[in-house]
Amino acid sequence: MATISQSSPRLRADEVSGEVVPAAHANIVLELIGNTPLLEITRLTEGLLRPRVSIFAKLEGFNPGGSVKDRPARKMLEIGLARGDLRPGKVIIDSSSGNTGIALAMIGATIGYPVELVMPANASRERKKILEAFGAKPIYSDQLEGSDGAIRLCRKIVAENPERYFKPDQYNNEANSLAHFETTGPEIWRQTEGRVTHFVATIGTSGTVMGTGRFLKPRNADIKIIAVEPDDPMHGLEGLKYMAASIVPGIYHEDELDDKMPVSTEDAYEMVYALGQFEGILVGQSSGAAMVAALKLARDLNEGCVVTVFPDFGDKYLSTNLWIGWQEWRRERLQHLIRKWNVSANATT
Ligand code: PMP
Repeated sequence: MATISQSSPRLRADEVSGEVVPAAHANIVLELIGNTPLLEITRLTEGLLRPRVSIFAKLEGFNPGGSVKDRPARKMLEIGLARGDLRPGKVIIDSSSGNTGIALAMIGATIGYPVELVMPANASRERKKILEAFGAKPIYSDQLEGSDGAIRLCRKIVAENPERYFKPDQYNNEANSLAHFETTGPEIWRQTEGRVTHFVATIGTSGTVMGTGRFLKPRNADIKIIAVEPDDPMHGLEGLKYMAASIVPGIYHEDELDDKMPVSTEDAYEMVYALGQFEGILVGQSSGAAMVAALKLARDLNEGCVVTVFPDFGDKYLSTNLWIGWQEWRRERLQHLIRKWNVSANATT
């Protein structure tokens, strides 16, 4: 059985320059995790931002498992193996709204461990199929209980048979944030050559915003770390949590944030359509939410480099509510929407 090789670029704390060239070839798919590109969002923002303001999105869909969650999944299993908590005979189990499940299933396949995933029954059809394609076993929880229902059912299964399972427990495992501290943060610092002024990220487990923030803040105390939340407990933003009405993750430390921005499901969906039609990039709902927040923030700045994260691409969501009624949102109407944003931007100057 192969062990997980540490492929993350080891960056000295003070290192900014020094190009990291992704492996020309890899002999295990895990080496392809991370080093994702930053895309500057320029078309959709045309005329909305002041000249010295830019918005960049880190395209996490380029990870081999298709999402940002490849990073923490690799780290959690790596540490589990190193400590001996994950050892031959164990089954990897966790509750996941989807992307962590896919990442664990992918890595489980490469390192030769069986994987079982607990998720709400209404997880998208594409995600369920992807998990099974990696050889993992899906277990469904009540869809009305959302991701918290999956967390509870997973706890129950493990409690009934603790010896059988290794549970990475992404909501309470500091290796989740650590993965972002070790990879996402340094990559953004290096890709912006230390110019990043605001880091904006959606919260599910909060690993992305916590770990990346923890890397960036000590580099420059002026960098603002901003979390993006759904504005409603009954939101339609897969992968995200409305904290006030949820089981709060153990790794979530609100005091480390400079601000929190609420985003509505409707705005996030419209932004997904706009990103597709103006930037030529098809992303998931949470990326739409991240972009709405990044734009709201950026349009009020005189200068700044706003970096956000697009956690995954959109192909997994084609059968979800996101794409019901989207035909009404063709370019013309979106253009109108963008004008609306522009008006409110001017109103704040
Ligand atoms: N977007 C999507 C699509 C996700 O799957 C997740 C993870 N649940 C997030 C955003 C949030 O990432 P994090 O868990 O690091 O807060």
